[in-house]
Amino acid sequence: MQEQLSLLNRISDELNKDLDPDKMLRRVLNLTVAHLNATTGSIMLFDQQNRVSAYILQQEVSSESADRIVGTVLTEGFAGWVLNKGEGGVIFDTYQDSRWVVYDDQPYDVRSVIATPLRRRRRVIGVLTVVHDEPNQFAEPDLQLLNAIAGQAAIALENAQLFKQTEQERVKLSAIINSTQDAVLVTTPENEVVLLNPAAQELLGLNGQTTQGQPLSELTDIEALLKMLSPDSPAAGEVPLPDGRTMWATITEIADMGRVTVLQDISAFKALDKMKRDFVTAFTHDLRTPLATVKGYIELVRMDGPITTRQEEDLDGITRAANMMKALIEDLLELSRLERLEELALENLNLEEVIQLSIGAIKPLAASKEIDVALTDTQSDLIIEGNLVLLSRAVGNLLDNAIKYTPSGGKVQIRLDSNNGQALVSVIDNGPGIRPKDLPRVFEKFYRARAELDDVPGTGLGLSIVKTITEQHGGEIWVESQPDTGSTFTISIPTLENKDAETK
Ligand code: ADP
Repeated sequence: MQEQLSLLNRISDELNKDLDPDKMLRRVLNLTVAHLNATTGSIMLFDQQNRVSAYILQQEVSSESADRIVGTVLTEGFAGWVLNKGEGGVIFDTYQDSRWVVYDDQPYDVRSVIATPLRRRRRVIGVLTVVHDEPNQFAEPDLQLLNAIAGQAAIALENAQLFKQTEQERVKLSAIINSTQDAVLVTTPENEVVLLNPAAQELLGLNGQTTQGQPLSELTDIEALLKMLSPDSPAAGEVPLPDGRTMWATITEIADMGRVTVLQDISAFKALDKMKRDFVTAFTHDLRTPLATVKGYIELVRMDGPITTRQEEDLDGITRAANMMKALIEDLLELSRLERLEELALENLNLEEVIQLSIGAIKPLAASKEIDVALTDTQSDLIIEGNLVLLSRAVGNLLDNAIKYTPSGGKVQIRLDSNNGQALVSVIDNGPGIRPKDLPRVFEKFYRARAELDDVPGTGLGLSIVKTITEQHGGEIWVESQPDTGSTFTISIPTLENKDAETK
């Protein structure tokens, strides 16, 4: 008994020594054969379809005869019996037991056999067999010992295989992460480095340096990146690099680990976008002069007169078209100027005063349509940091749309409110509203939702301009609308107190 326990301990040690399943099983086999004073032994492992996936032998045989032995013992012999029964057994004398098949070129004499299954949960995943060249060498207690060995071996084998699988996955993943052109940074919630792939090391100029565990702020001074990794920052954004490249960073929070930041080089897209914008600006700019000439000639024709009423109407048509074109050119130039603007000239502004200014400017248009424009709810102490011209333009555009799309006699309200450090300006009308399918698109350039429904002139750029101005002030814009009820456009802008608190 004592001897058996010490064997099981030794086997358990052997099983823990190596994570290579083949080597591990070979050692267990040697120990078992030696302990049972057997001649030799083998372990067969099966795959999901019960095909032999490994045949570990204590004594070498040629691969050709190994194949034949496997085929025979599984179909007609003792291993097949163990596999099918799912239990072990002892053959006292092979000459007297039909479960043992003798093949011609058997490399050694076999008279006693003991074999037991290796199980994973219910399934038999292998058979451990030990043989002796004399009869009556094994008894029931030996089978019990063999069962215990097989139990341990099966568990160790499963662990080893799981480890191997995990290791393979790890190698695969690390090959992907190491070879990708995108920079991958894994950091703890405290912004200490867990992993930087080679692209990230190159990007941060840290080739070959040990970085693990170091605070990211000590490894780089790329401000935009460090800012993005600070609490409450947006999960994606542009990161300009000192060498002129621009990266697009996306940050994903991983529970219990920290954050994974992936940086993609978008310099080529930025260059393309700039080219497109430069082209549109240059092109639009060049249209101004011939357009002014067209308008000049219209006036000349009128002055040269006399012209018929019919000709007068034609000239009015040309003037309307020319004015429309002028509006489009001005909007396009304004938008491209706004998009190029790197920094706004800012001052402290009382938002209520900005709104009053916009209402004043829109009064004549409102009066012409008999629309009442009123500031219904307000807060006179909301101070923001902004650009007066641009902000009054943004509020003016929203008011202009509300009046333009609301039928004569309608109502337009403005509300000024604040919530959670944000000033909220809402322009509410009781006009035709916006269909749900158009709602997500109204802020796109050139998108005109009601073009086919009414003949209100427009360029489809007004809301894009409002959105750009709002975002340049660190704010957001959104719309709520019900067809036939009206629309509410709201812009939010951080109040000065909120900004101050953020910078502290
Ligand atoms: P424009 O007014 O020049 O067409 P905008 O960008 O200002 O361009 O608006 C885009 C579209 O959104 C408009 O064409 C219109 O269909 C819709 N829209 C904007 N404001 C309103 C509003 N207050 N009521 C109904 N529809 C609106």
